[in-house]
Amino acid sequence: MSQTSDTLGRPLRDLRISVTDRCNFRCAYCMPKEVFGKDFAFMERSHLLKFGEITSIVKAAVPLGVRKVRLTGGEPLLRKELEWLVSGLKAIDGIEDIALTTNGSMLVQKAQALADAGLDRVTVSLDSLNDETFRAMNDVNFPVARVLAGIDAAIDAGLTPVKINMVVKRGMNDDDVVEMARHFRGKPVILRFIEYMDVGMKNGWRLEDVVPAGEILKRVAADVALEPIEANYEGETALRYRYADGEGEIGFIASVTKPFCATCHRARLSADGKLFTCLFAGQGHDLKTLIRDQNASVEQLRDALAAIWRVRTDRYSEIRSDDTGDLPRVEMSYIGG
Ligand code: SF4
Repeated sequence: MSQTSDTLGRPLRDLRISVTDRCNFRCAYCMPKEVFGKDFAFMERSHLLKFGEITSIVKAAVPLGVRKVRLTGGEPLLRKELEWLVSGLKAIDGIEDIALTTNGSMLVQKAQALADAGLDRVTVSLDSLNDETFRAMNDVNFPVARVLAGIDAAIDAGLTPVKINMVVKRGMNDDDVVEMARHFRGKPVILRFIEYMDVGMKNGWRLEDVVPAGEILKRVAADVALEPIEANYEGETALRYRYADGEGEIGFIASVTKPFCATCHRARLSADGKLFTCLFAGQGHDLKTLIRDQNASVEQLRDALAAIWRVRTDRYSEIRSDDTGDLPRVEMSYIGG
């Protein structure tokens, strides 16, 4: 397998593609309503990469080692006819896995069409089963029942195991972690608890609001026996545990307390065609101009991607400290999680 490595020897394997900067939720840790209000200037449609342009970039990335693509947003299902992009990506030789991260609000309508188009897996963000807490956290009063129905639709469509991402914030939803584990145990679902992160510059992040993965683990393990299990592959972000009674698996994504930068092989593409080499990067590399103004071929895009990755030094989570708080960081809603 050909590969291109960065300055820390990390190969490029995983490309996360944001297809829109818009979302129908306003989760405070990602897209606080005060900032992303009704007057916020979201990208114009003409600035978004077209599906054909995204497909060219993915084709260019395969010879460098990319095997997995994840579609993100904002909320990717707001982008119309996304199944066309999925089927286009599925046709690319070398792409082994296509996943989608969504808030689940439109999965009931979309799950089957996406699965038919070739989507392999889906990850649903779900921060509480408590309807009041969930409505408060998405800040648009969206009922949890409709997301749970979306998860069932994804399971019925065969997009399994469905992964569930719960961002845990102290004083907000940390009392719900045991209930979440009980609810999804024994289902074709892998629940992952995510430490609250200082993504972007707008979410008012404080370290004291982080519930360390170790503490969440203790709470769940006090309720049901867990056993640690090996990672599926090098660079997997979740620390995996299985229920001792065999009723499935859960995970912990501990970017704050147990950084995993040493094996990070993810790049992110914004909806307007900028490549970011870290979730906490301040700047991206403009690929859209290469495509639209310079008619770059797939080979020229490949060389541009390789040149960007080879000089990559990012390891933000390892260097996170009181001094890094003011470092400019791109908004997560702009490049996807
Ligand atoms: S902080 Fe950046 S380099 Fe570290 S794991 Fe996250 S995306 Fe990768």
